[in-house]
Amino acid sequence: MATAPTQTNPGSRRARRLAAEASAPTSRHSRKRARPLWQKLAAAAAMLALLAGSFALGWHFGVDSTRYKGGILLVNEDNLLSSDYVPEGLVNLYEQRHSFRLARSDIYVTRETYEAMEAMFAAAEADGVNGFIVTSGYRDYDRQAEVYAESEEGYAQPPGASEHQTGLCFDVTAETNEGFESTEQYAWLREHAHEYGFIQRYPANKADITGISYEPWHYRYVGVSAATQIRNQDITLEEYVGAAGSAG
Ligand SMILES: [Zn+2]
Repeated sequence: MATAPTQTNPGSRRARRLAAEASAPTSRHSRKRARPLWQKLAAAAAMLALLAGSFALGWHFGVDSTRYKGGILLVNEDNLLSSDYVPEGLVNLYEQRHSFRLARSDIYVTRETYEAMEAMFAAAEADGVNGFIVTSGYRDYDRQAEVYAESEEGYAQPPGASEHQTGLCFDVTAETNEGFESTEQYAWLREHAHEYGFIQRYPANKADITGISYEPWHYRYVGVSAATQIRNQDITLEEYVGAAGSAG
């Protein structure tokens, strides 16, 4: 009669299993399961207290270390925005008249930034340079935390340290196989961005000051006066607000 082995040899199967269990060393897993409930609760409470403490500390320093220098908001790893910092007057670029292309329909910047962008890209177009594609603007604290968590080390700013939380900057590109810095669009911005109040925030060879390596695509609104000084003196925003701070 053809029957399943479990039915014909129940004893030997159980014997094999018991032998295997007996010979196996007591596993860490089974010892952990034997831990009393109060110990687990105490460990969980300690972890929770630690988390709450670090959150409160982070929030505290986040608020205190927000920096306006010379009327200009400086954000970097030493000057963090708080998790609840949201700029006023954000506008959706897609809903505004725009002389530039948009990579997405949900890109926001402050109204002041948008108006300067629109004036700048309209002027570029009048010069025969178009094809700018804006890829990014305002990013809130939680979104930056996600970006940071998803990125390899050194490729994204931790939450609170990203200028994108200010709503005063944007990333731009153009259709190219070479990288944005090799395009006529980039060349135009290098010549003219400051005339509209924008600076290239993370220039080449300034990472020791800005903490961020070359980003030819990232522009920050600081107003025409500051942008012109920063460009003509070939300095960074860190240096500019440092100078502005010591002077005032
Ligand atoms: Zn950027």
